[in-house]
Amino acid sequence: LTKEGKTEMQSTGKKVGGVDISSISKILHLSPPEVSLLERIEKEMTIGLRVNCGDETMILNAYVVYHSTARGPAKGGIRLAPNVTLEETRDLAERMTWKTALTHIPFGGGKTGIRIDPRTLTSFTKSLIIARLVQEIRNELVSGNDYIPAPDLGTGPPEMAVIYNEIRNPECVTGKPTHVGGLPGRKEATGRGVSYSTIYALEHIHSIDVKKSKIAVQGFGNVGSWASKFLYEKGAKIVAVSDIEGGTYNPEGLDIPKLFEYSKKNRTIKGVGGKVITNEDLFSLDVDVFIPAAVENVIDKNTANKIKAKIVVEGANGPTTHEGDIILSKKGKTVIPDILANSGGVIASYVEWKSSKSGSITKRQEVYDTIEEGIGSSYKDVIAAAERYKISYRNAAAVIAVDEVVKAMHDRGWA
Ligand code: NAD
Repeated sequence: LTKEGKTEMQSTGKKVGGVDISSISKILHLSPPEVSLLERIEKEMTIGLRVNCGDETMILNAYVVYHSTARGPAKGGIRLAPNVTLEETRDLAERMTWKTALTHIPFGGGKTGIRIDPRTLTSFTKSLIIARLVQEIRNELVSGNDYIPAPDLGTGPPEMAVIYNEIRNPECVTGKPTHVGGLPGRKEATGRGVSYSTIYALEHIHSIDVKKSKIAVQGFGNVGSWASKFLYEKGAKIVAVSDIEGGTYNPEGLDIPKLFEYSKKNRTIKGVGGKVITNEDLFSLDVDVFIPAAVENVIDKNTANKIKAKIVVEGANGPTTHEGDIILSKKGKTVIPDILANSGGVIASYVEWKSSKSGSITKRQEVYDTIEEGIGSSYKDVIAAAERYKISYRNAAAVIAVDEVVKAMHDRGWA
């Protein structure tokens, strides 16, 4: 650290990762050097990834960000998306730091973004891209102490198997296929956690029986479809779900198991089992819970004003903009922040990593139980901090997470 508490590490430049460090630092009475360390990204790489596909060579922009390894190896998925940027990758890496800290998992936060539309790729080309990425970051993967990747948008178990094949160590990656150390229950883990978060908010915060609740879900991919399925099984009425093409609305409740199966074989669930509804109209439905489980920044200053639901459970990463958040707060909505609501995925990843390390076998129910215990315990911490400091659940979750990271930095002699 220099006199001003500045380091040579990259500055995030602006508030990203959903946490406003300067306001959280006032609550925690952090010193300027502590704030400075928290605001900086530990390491990031911009790579021109040359992928030789036989008849052509693709050059792809790849971003690898290790936001913090204070609490353990940087944990975070590999995203293939046509519009991914370094800034988005930083934001997602930082969210992972707070998510692992809030849930007390011994990992830090990281992320990889590769700028390519995965829909244009064959699975073979995807595997070439991932193998090339591994060549670039082999040292970090081999050490097991720097970066532990996982799937994100555009990648899945087959791509994680490529990493396993290259490094030949099962604990270097999570989200592997089940026959090579992957976890039963990993694919539905995030949705399972989102459903549990929703039930917790309904029953413990609002005293609404889940069986009497009405819910709308934006996004019917991995997170949204599994969350809908588990909530349906608990007796909730899921009145609307949507995907990128549009949604379907039935005030009497949708047949979610049917839609779930339908979505596996068809491109869109728009208008299936209900009336066609736009993603725009989804916000203004008269429901108890709105679950954004699609993409970032969908709840902004315009859409936040339309939301009638009492509770917003952030299934997606960063679905609410800063302006949107202020409006939801003024309207008295209960917002369950992403780092709490969708932490089921990383909790399951931790279980997979532990099993890979020890060689133990983990049953699906054990995974579910660990997710529920982990989220339940984080909920209690967040509610207690919100009451203690008179702050929102989002800020309460951030206070706990930042405090954990600061303590780890002190324990390691960094601060
Ligand atoms: P996915 O690709 O499986 O599904 C995304 C869904 O959102 C699809 O139904 C898609 O059609 C829909 N969608 C895309 N753009 C949309 C738009 N503009 N409006 C409405 N719907 C739109 O992705 P996923 O794995 O379910 O991830 C969804 C979100 O959850 C992402 O923000 C991701 O980072 C986050 N997340 C995922 C996991 C996980 O384990 N999969 C874990 C934590 C967080």
